[in-house]
Amino acid sequence: MEVFIEPIGRLINEFSKLPGVGKKTAQRYAYKVVNMSEAEAREFADAILSAKRKVRFCRICGNFSEGDVCEICKGRDPSVICVVKEPKDVIVLEKLHEFKGVYHVLHGVIDPMNGVSPNDIRIHELLDRVKENEVKEVIMATNPDVEGEATAMYIARLLKPFGVTVTRLSRGIPIGSELEYTDEVTLSRALIERKEI
Ligand SMILES: [Zn+2]
Repeated sequence: MEVFIEPIGRLINEFSKLPGVGKKTAQRYAYKVVNMSEAEAREFADAILSAKRKVRFCRICGNFSEGDVCEICKGRDPSVICVVKEPKDVIVLEKLHEFKGVYHVLHGVIDPMNGVSPNDIRIHELLDRVKENEVKEVIMATNPDVEGEATAMYIARLLKPFGVTVTRLSRGIPIGSELEYTDEVTLSRALIERKEI
């Protein structure tokens, strides 16, 4: 026999799908929802559905966007492109208020062990951007782990024939770590002191 009545069990099951949410936390979330007013619960459910309907990927950079082209691509210096693995890395870098260029989200890194080849991530799109626009610099800001480094080197090689300067965030970010978990001072310095590769 199930311990929870069906509607609560269902909620717990849904919350358990979120990253970092275990059974206990999912239970707490479910009770909280059950105790909400009807209006609060509707607001909560609407926020989920609305995000799902309205958020898409920017046609140019691949970051989350409400429109066809994101606000960053619309208003910033297109001659410097910062290449990251995932949309969440854009947020990490934007919080530094240091970078004035645009981004390119790869949606992954090359990872042959897990079956991710160069064709599975947005490398062609990056090459097209560099071919079709006056790009002066491409900053490789993939994570400083094995796959991130290999991806940065691979892309740098492809970009060389276009005469664009390719740089990498300087050392100082602990090897094997992710941008997301690097403190802002270290990350700012790594960005400012980037090195040509
Ligand atoms: Zn964009």
